[in-house]
Amino acid sequence: MNIIEIIEKKKNNLPLTTLEINFIIEAYCNEEIADYQMSALLMAIYFNGMNDQETIDLTNAMVSSGDVVDLSSITKATVDKHSTGGVGDKVSLVLAPILACFDLAVAKMSGRGLGHTGGTLDKLESIPGFKIEISEEEFLAIVEEVGMSIIGQTKELVPADKKLYALRDVTATVDSIPLIASSIMSKKIASGAKTIILDVKYGDGAFMKTADDANKLASTLVMIGKGLGRNTIAMVTNMTEPLGNMVGNSLEVREAINCLQGRGPKDITNICIEIATEFLLATNKFSDRNLAIEKIEEVIANGQALAKFKQFVTRQGGTEDFIDNLNIASQTTDVPALTNGFVHGIVADQIGICAMHLGAGRLKYTDDIDHSVGIEVLIKVGDTVKSGDAIYRIYHHQNQDVSTYINDLQTNTTISLQPKSPNKIIERVVR
Ligand code: URA
Repeated sequence: MNIIEIIEKKKNNLPLTTLEINFIIEAYCNEEIADYQMSALLMAIYFNGMNDQETIDLTNAMVSSGDVVDLSSITKATVDKHSTGGVGDKVSLVLAPILACFDLAVAKMSGRGLGHTGGTLDKLESIPGFKIEISEEEFLAIVEEVGMSIIGQTKELVPADKKLYALRDVTATVDSIPLIASSIMSKKIASGAKTIILDVKYGDGAFMKTADDANKLASTLVMIGKGLGRNTIAMVTNMTEPLGNMVGNSLEVREAINCLQGRGPKDITNICIEIATEFLLATNKFSDRNLAIEKIEEVIANGQALAKFKQFVTRQGGTEDFIDNLNIASQTTDVPALTNGFVHGIVADQIGICAMHLGAGRLKYTDDIDHSVGIEVLIKVGDTVKSGDAIYRIYHHQNQDVSTYINDLQTNTTISLQPKSPNKIIERVVR
C-alpha cells in the first residue's frame, strides 16, 4: 500500500478502505509515514470528511495501536462516562457513587486538567491521602468490591491518538468532526466499558462552541460506539456558564459531597440525575424512567450514595475524616456586582482561566497546582442582582493580590435591565 496514493484518494474525496486506514495508523505509529505526509492526509480529511464506515475504521485502528483495559473479570455491568470538558464539571464525582449503588461498575481512567478546564484526577488528589496511582489488579479489585474506582492511566491506551493529536494541534486540523470523534471514542473503547455516556458540552467554556456543532459531534460519537458494539448515548449540554457554583479542586470536591448529601446546586444535581437515569435504563436496571429517577433520589436522600463515595475514597487511601479536612484556602474576598439587573452571561472559560491564574489549574502539563484555591460563583444566568451584591467569592492565600481577578470576574459577567430566563442545561439526548 502506498501513502501517496491514499492521500491522492482522499484529496479526490474518495472513501478509504478498512485496509487502507489500518495501514495508515500502523505505519504512522511505526514511523513509516512521515509527519508531512500525515499532515497532508489530515488536511484532506479536514476538507473532505469521512463517511461513517471510515470513521468507525479509523477509531478501531487507533484502538488497536495500544493496550486495552480488560474488564472481563468484573461481574457487574461496566459503564463509563466521558465529558468533553468544561468549567466546574464535577459530574463524575457525583455520578459514579450513584451508579455504584445500583450494582453498576464504574472503572474510570481519568486525566488531569489543562488551561481553563479542570481534571477529575486533580480534584481527587485534593483529598488528603487519596492515591490515583494504583496497580491495575488493585483497580479491578476496587471496581468489583465498591462498584467504582478512578485512577490515572496505567497502560498505554491509544498511542496513535497522542501522536495524531500533537500533529493536528500544529496543522490546524483539530476541529474536524471525524477526527475529534475517533480520538474521543478510541480512548473510551480502549477503556473497556460496555455502556458509555458522553457529555458533549457546548459554549464558551467548551471545546465545541455551538450547540449545532456539539449535536453533530454527539451523533458521530454514538454512531461510532454502536458501530463498535458498545451501548452508547450522548447528551448535549450547556457550558456557557460554569456548572454548579464551585471552580477549583477542593472546592469542587466539597460541592460534589454537597450534591451527594442532597444539597448541591440544582444544575449539577439535575445533570447527574439525568445521566444516571440514562445509565440505569440503558443497562436495563429499570425500564421505567420515573421509577429510575425516584430510586436515584432515594439513594441520595438515604445517604447510600455518600457512603459509596466514602468507601471509594478510603479504599484508595483517603483519610476517614476527609470530608472535614478538605484543604480549602482560608482567605476569601467577595466580588461585588457593578450594577442592578438580571444576569445575562457568565463567561465560563474566562472564569476557568481566572481560577487557573489563581493557582487552581495549569497552563502546561508539568505545572504544579494549588488544590486549595478557587472561585465560588454566587449567581446563575437569569438571577436578579443589586449593585454591590457579592456575585463571586475568591478563595485565596493571605499574600495573594486578587485585585486583577476581581476586575476579570466583573468584566466577564453581563448584567442587564432586560429579564433573562435561566439556561437550559440539557439540550438533547442522542441514543
Ligand atoms: N478531545 C479529544 O480527546 N480529542 C480531540 O480530538 C478533541 C477533544
